[in-house]
Amino acid sequence: MARTDVIVLGAGIVGTSVALHLVKRGLSVALVDRGGAGEGTSYGNTGIIEGNTLFPAAFPSRFAELLSIALKRSPVADYHLGFLPQVAPWLLAFRSASRPERLLETAQLMRPLMGRAVAEHEALSAEAGAQHYLRHNGWLKLYRSDRSFSGAARELDVAAEFGIANVPLDRDAALKLEPSLQPVFRHAVHWTGAVSVTNPLALTRAYAARFAALGGLALTGDARTLHRVASQWRVDTAAGPLDAGEVVVALGPWAPDLLDPLGVKLPLAVKRGYHRHFRPQGNAALARLILDAENGYCLAPMEQGIRVTTGAEFAARDAAPTPVQFDRVMPRARELFPLGDAVETQAFGGKTWLGARPCFADSRPVISRAPRLAGLWLAYGHGHWGLTLGPATGRLIAEMMTGATPFCDPKPYGAERFAR
Ligand SMILES: Cc1cc2nc3c(=O)[nH]c(=O)nc-3n(C[C@H](O)[C@H](O)[C@H](O)COP(=O)(O)OP(=O)(O)OC[C@H]3O[C@@H](n4cnc5c(N)ncnc54)[C@H](O)[C@@H]3O)c2cc1C
Repeated sequence: MARTDVIVLGAGIVGTSVALHLVKRGLSVALVDRGGAGEGTSYGNTGIIEGNTLFPAAFPSRFAELLSIALKRSPVADYHLGFLPQVAPWLLAFRSASRPERLLETAQLMRPLMGRAVAEHEALSAEAGAQHYLRHNGWLKLYRSDRSFSGAARELDVAAEFGIANVPLDRDAALKLEPSLQPVFRHAVHWTGAVSVTNPLALTRAYAARFAALGGLALTGDARTLHRVASQWRVDTAAGPLDAGEVVVALGPWAPDLLDPLGVKLPLAVKRGYHRHFRPQGNAALARLILDAENGYCLAPMEQGIRVTTGAEFAARDAAPTPVQFDRVMPRARELFPLGDAVETQAFGGKTWLGARPCFADSRPVISRAPRLAGLWLAYGHGHWGLTLGPATGRLIAEMMTGATPFCDPKPYGAERFAR
């Protein structure tokens, strides 16, 4: 029977980073996925390493905003009506975690991880020869109205307290940074310390290649075959059954498929999101990532083209795509930047890409031992911040698993917080 020290289940940015950190510490590690590294949620994100972000995405606080979502007019969020009863407990917990004092608490609890995000990506990308995928010119958040800009005031105050660099800009100053934008906005904030990725799939693949170069084993298999054999965990792979004393579950939005039957039932929901690439018209170009704050979409310059990504859709993970929200943001995106033809006329059937952010209502991931199951570790639920936090998560869990002093207190990310 083949044996290894650790099996990591799921080769997204989180699992690949975990596997790489473990192999760097001298353990024998197998990284098991049913597909290729980085082809799940980690494929299609906006590519921002948001080490600077303080407050998580929050439940709407203004009635008008909530009404617009309820009436299915909002570009920021959408939902499947039939899914609401199922997700209602999660939404109530999310609303509670969106109170101002709770948002501040989340910002404080996430700071140790977020503060390490950029440095950890820089370290892994340097050893993986992938620095060229990182762009160090921050990101630009745009506000079309004075009211929405005033909504950012609290975040700017807290950023000043935490020492996080940003430069509020008027429209003309922002247009100097990004001359191809149209002047449909009034204010901007340039978060200068943020880093963005020009090809998230290629970055995860580069980390996976580094893992393999250090002796890590990448295998194809179905994580749901995981079971106990005496004191070991066993998973079936295309290369045969594989045993290990320790297993890390890094299956992103698919983690419950494995964990629920094992009795580890943590309250994960998904916020689905779409993307599609467009060619810029003529000589138009974007140097950095743009968020249109009121409309909840981003323009991300990628190797494939300008990637337009949408906000949250509350729907069952595997329900058929309903990219209506994408349709709502496109006119707004086109008035902000001269987008030309869609790049994907063949890929995904010429349609939009759909992914599912794995989210806990308190916007914190789970990075901890699994309750009651010896040798099982959890690293999932990174929500809007999985690309950002993959490498920092890898370091933290590898330090915990090898008995080293963790670089930060892991308690806020423990699974036990749901046992209360
Ligand atoms: C539209 C959009 C924009 C986003 N933008 C950003 C951003 O700008 N910055 C940021 O930090 N985050 C962003 N995110 C979030 C980020 O993409 C996710 O948090 C992150 O990709 C999660 O990574 P993961 O490794 O946990 O999961 P995944 O990448 O989904 O990896 C899980 C892996 O598990 C595998 N798997 C599933 N089931 C099985 C099974 N039964 N057997 C074997 N393998 C299995 C899958 O094949 C997959 O490879 C965005 C997400 C979306 C949808």
